[in-house]
Amino acid sequence: HANAQTQQPRRRAAVPPYQKILKGFEDVRSVLGQYRKLTLAEKILYSHLDNVEEGLLENTNNSKNIRGNANLKLKPDRVAMQDASAQMAILQFMTCNLPSTAVPASIHCDHMIVGEKGADTDLPNSIAGNKEVFDFLESAGKKYGMEFWPPGAGIIHQTVLENYAAPGLMMLGTDSHTPNAGGLGAIAIGVGGADAVDALVDAPWELKAPKILGVRLEGKLSGWTSPKDVILHLAGLLTVRGGTGSIIEYSGPGVDTLSATGMATVCNMGAEVGATTSIFPFTENHIPYLKATGRASIIDAVKGIAYGSEHYNFLRPDTGCEYDEQVTIDLSTLEPHINGPFTPDLSTPLSKFKEAVETNKWPKTFGAGLIGSCTNSSFEDMTRAEDLVKQAHAAGLRPRADFFITPGSEQVRATLEESATLDSFSKAGGTVLANACGPCIGQWKRTDGVKKGEENAILCSYNRNFPGRNDGNAKTMSFLASPEIVTAMSYAGSTEFNPVTDVISLPGGKEFRFEPPTGTQLPGSGFAIGNPAFLPTSAKPDPNVQVVVDPESDRLALLDPFEPYGEGELKGLKVLYKVKGQCTTDTISAAGPWLKYKGHLPNISENTLIGAVNAESGETNVAYDADGTKMSIPELAKKWKSQGQQWIVVAEDNYGEGSAREHAALQPRYLGGRIILAKSFARIHQTNLKKQGVIPLTFANKEDYDKISANDEIATSGLWDVLQSGGEGKVKVSVSKSGGETLEIPVEHSLSKDQCGFVLAGSALNLLAKKSKE
Ligand code: SF4
Repeated sequence: HANAQTQQPRRRAAVPPYQKILKGFEDVRSVLGQYRKLTLAEKILYSHLDNVEEGLLENTNNSKNIRGNANLKLKPDRVAMQDASAQMAILQFMTCNLPSTAVPASIHCDHMIVGEKGADTDLPNSIAGNKEVFDFLESAGKKYGMEFWPPGAGIIHQTVLENYAAPGLMMLGTDSHTPNAGGLGAIAIGVGGADAVDALVDAPWELKAPKILGVRLEGKLSGWTSPKDVILHLAGLLTVRGGTGSIIEYSGPGVDTLSATGMATVCNMGAEVGATTSIFPFTENHIPYLKATGRASIIDAVKGIAYGSEHYNFLRPDTGCEYDEQVTIDLSTLEPHINGPFTPDLSTPLSKFKEAVETNKWPKTFGAGLIGSCTNSSFEDMTRAEDLVKQAHAAGLRPRADFFITPGSEQVRATLEESATLDSFSKAGGTVLANACGPCIGQWKRTDGVKKGEENAILCSYNRNFPGRNDGNAKTMSFLASPEIVTAMSYAGSTEFNPVTDVISLPGGKEFRFEPPTGTQLPGSGFAIGNPAFLPTSAKPDPNVQVVVDPESDRLALLDPFEPYGEGELKGLKVLYKVKGQCTTDTISAAGPWLKYKGHLPNISENTLIGAVNAESGETNVAYDADGTKMSIPELAKKWKSQGQQWIVVAEDNYGEGSAREHAALQPRYLGGRIILAKSFARIHQTNLKKQGVIPLTFANKEDYDKISANDEIATSGLWDVLQSGGEGKVKVSVSKSGGETLEIPVEHSLSKDQCGFVLAGSALNLLAKKSKE
């Protein structure tokens, strides 16, 4: 890292197209009538409709019932993409042959950077190992005018918060934690690459109008409790499915007590309850954050729309608006929480955690404490953690667990360098990793001797903790907490240590007790810019730039369009696999070492469903062909593909939960998958499947899951009519068992008119390419 260079001229602030957005808002008011009370999320979302009248009235039978009913066709203001998902999004965008993107877009190199020894060695190594991909993304960025943030510049959501997010903006990001920008009053939604391509080519992006789940915050945080605890607690209340189909909108007096970055943390982890996005209203605390990040120039515009009359008040909900559901959290009595292992909604208050460790026989020690990431690396988070480190240092203590710090961006890192916060961490023996995802996305090379398959615990301030998420070891129990709790507990290295009440013994019989942490919300003279090499490329397209993909590459492959649907019902499909239990996008398309094949569909397909448990045998990634031959799931899928045998997967609830990873839809499609029949789906994944021409169906009666086995033969009835009529009608599947018996199973589809078009054309992109030729 170069030294911080505060004197660097700042980039011009990105300003949302407020005039256009407010024009949309006027249309919303005139269509719905001025007495209709709207939530904040509705105001921003509906103001981004391609056609307000059609969006709000014509596609709902009852204009009062927009939420949960209308299919909104939206025009987002901008798109952000991270390096892993950007590859496929850009490869798809390229098939449309356009000279530039229709809306401003940015590319962020963060997911492919390993965390091991520290930024100074990890970053150059990761750049060398991924050069071909970074070069591809950079050249595409330059050619099409997408700002390319190089490796080391920061994690997408932090960079977006510092540079692009603003109250009233609506954006898409090809990453499930895009809602982080809701902390600054933006509607920011995580999508797959194919959805991002909609926005990039100016096609309306479709979303079933979400319900609005209100969370009212009362009181004020104090002591050990931090914004992270709001969402850790809420995840426990709502569970990983509780936010599905909803936007979480925060309100109440407690909102005004939170910092902008604290609100971003809360919104970030709304992804863990399945919410479409989360949003906070504009508050006075947004102003100093915009200033500190060099965007004072947009404050007047924001104030203008925030403080209009009640009727025109765009950045706050209308008084008396209704929420579909409401939860109240009292910040004054909230205590710190620890969530996990293996699922983010297993929430335990800190005071009960020791007991939970004993009851559940969780490990009593933990090997590593990791703070930072896109969720929790604000100046406030880090200075609060530093306060604890300094307290312990003064008592002569060093962390017993390995201690890792991930700054979210170069701005944060450089500022923490200036404030000597990084120095405090290094003195404590902490390792400062690159400004990138690293251990949060399985890119963690552990050097502490924990072997694959060995049970152990870690504590982190990240947002996600599925098995294998951090180190590729499914037996690592990852517990999520605030950076403060992770830091303090790292000094004890014990999961039974409660820093609020417990002491650490010092030599000579003395005892050390932490004082509650204090920190600073924002750096006094704004954020440092840091190393100028980490600034992005220009947003001006340059048609002379060549985007090169080597035909011999094993990392990148240009895309061939999928076959169109054909005609009639689907017949002769076979059940490739019946999945038992949780099936996340990680299960369907694992990350870790596979991330390097994100731009090469045939190669990454070798990981398809390798985490899935066989419902019949209990084995993971073991499939059986009809003759009993045992092989891995991708092997069987490839074999069937080569034989022209198309297939379906049968699964349980919330299939595809976890992330926006579109590879989880592309790979099955590439290997010959036509239908996924599940008890229920995660929203983003369900949409991704349809965009790639795979048909998601749900059991009308969940018990019917028990009636289907691997290798059964499947045919649809009614599907062809549904596709022809644009989504009208019912579908059934007939299941022919190996013994000759045939069953009829009623199923539900969720195909909209447009999505029927995607399926018929073979994919959304096929349809788009066809339309642009017409
Ligand atoms: Fe990166 Fe982790 Fe944030 Fe995802 S959740 S963007 S992997 S830091």
